[in-house]
Amino acid sequence: MSTISPKEMYLKQLERAAKIMQLDEDLLEILKQPKRVVRVSIPVKMDNGKIKVFTGYRCQYNDFRGPFKGGIRFHPGVTEDEVVALAAWMTWKCAVIDIPFGGGKGGVICDPRELSEGELQRLTRRFTYTIMPILGPSIDIPAPDVFTGEKTMAWIMDTYSAFKGYSEPGVVTGKARSIGGSKGRREATGRGVSIVADETAKYFGEKIEGMRVAIQGFGNVGSHAALFISKLGGKIVAVSDVSGGLYNKDGIDVKALMDYVKKNKVINGFPWAKEIDGDKIFELDVDMLIPAALEGVITLDNVDRIKARYIIEGANGPTTPEADEVLFKKGIHVVPDILANSGGVLVSYFEWVQSKLGFWWEEEEVNDRLERKLRNATREVINMAHEYDVDLRTGAMILALRRIEEVYKERELFP
Ligand code: NAD
Repeated sequence: MSTISPKEMYLKQLERAAKIMQLDEDLLEILKQPKRVVRVSIPVKMDNGKIKVFTGYRCQYNDFRGPFKGGIRFHPGVTEDEVVALAAWMTWKCAVIDIPFGGGKGGVICDPRELSEGELQRLTRRFTYTIMPILGPSIDIPAPDVFTGEKTMAWIMDTYSAFKGYSEPGVVTGKARSIGGSKGRREATGRGVSIVADETAKYFGEKIEGMRVAIQGFGNVGSHAALFISKLGGKIVAVSDVSGGLYNKDGIDVKALMDYVKKNKVINGFPWAKEIDGDKIFELDVDMLIPAALEGVITLDNVDRIKARYIIEGANGPTTPEADEVLFKKGIHVVPDILANSGGVLVSYFEWVQSKLGFWWEEEEVNDRLERKLRNATREVINMAHEYDVDLRTGAMILALRRIEEVYKERELFP
């Protein structure tokens, strides 16, 4: 694991891109800081009748391009710095794919696995009530993140609507279909990873068909990325999760593994592949590597053993800036998180648009729009990287910062 904090990481990435593209210096100063970070205490009546006070955060990083957008995570390891970094990455991500949102993120320090359903509901509703003055479909629109999901979003939407006196589905995304969720949202991030991977390979004159692919993480992002890449003809030879790793040189049957994980929760014990050490996933002789689990996993400690020619960042922040430099020198194409995993927020945007219209699209329409937008963004990022002769992450950052700068120069600063 990396020793550099997510905050140090995003500031380094920002400063590097700003210097190369000669970003307006005043704008850089503005973008180094979040616009607002709210820290709240959340008293919750526990099942035993006692009150327990939790701590929560909502960071609204930047809204030059539109309302703040970003997930809420429930995790014991949540810190203010982590929430701020994730909110900054959301700001760049929404700009890279050119959707009219800024960046935000939230978190509550808690272990949801130790809370009952009732306690979780009361925690979510009280948190929503406490940050309600800064939420709204035109202000700040949360979504699910680590250990939160459709049910959490339903509680947020219901609490917000109860106070407003009318139903407001546009206040969150990642909702169940019955209350205004979008078709295709659940698979969107993994589907997006596969589209970006395919378009990148094409751009460099290669085909994903027949490529050997290894994936760290077999949750929402990893499993769907595996599924859609195998549909494009890629061969998923290795996957890992918290329980260990699997390898099959002829390719793992992804659908069978997904069914296995549905029953057994983890990949360990899947009979049609050889078990390997989970950490070895980065060192295998493969064409493409997809980290889709944790932050800070590709570091100076393992970067020299990576053999893949493409790294597609399904997870947020999996590569440290030092490892990035080594990979660039070795000619390995690292498709950054802010492009590679943006399919989720893109379909969140579609969900928000549908909520505003009160008109819901067919799945085909959602997937077609997702594909067109991501293939286009991938080409724009690679073109930008070529123009400045930089790595793809810096190319993506420059593209995002250019778009933010354009809005800043047009609107200018109040007052
Ligand atoms: P998830 O909880 O569904 O899955 C996480 C996976 O990582 C699980 O398979 C888990 O076993 C595995 N894992 C945990 N610790 C591990 C370890 N030490 N070694 C190997 N594997 C380990 O989460 P997810 O939604 O798939 O998110 C994964 C990453 O993608 C996160 O960084 C998240 O922020 C990012 N992301 C998710 C979305 C989304 O829409 N879900 C969108 C953008 C980015």
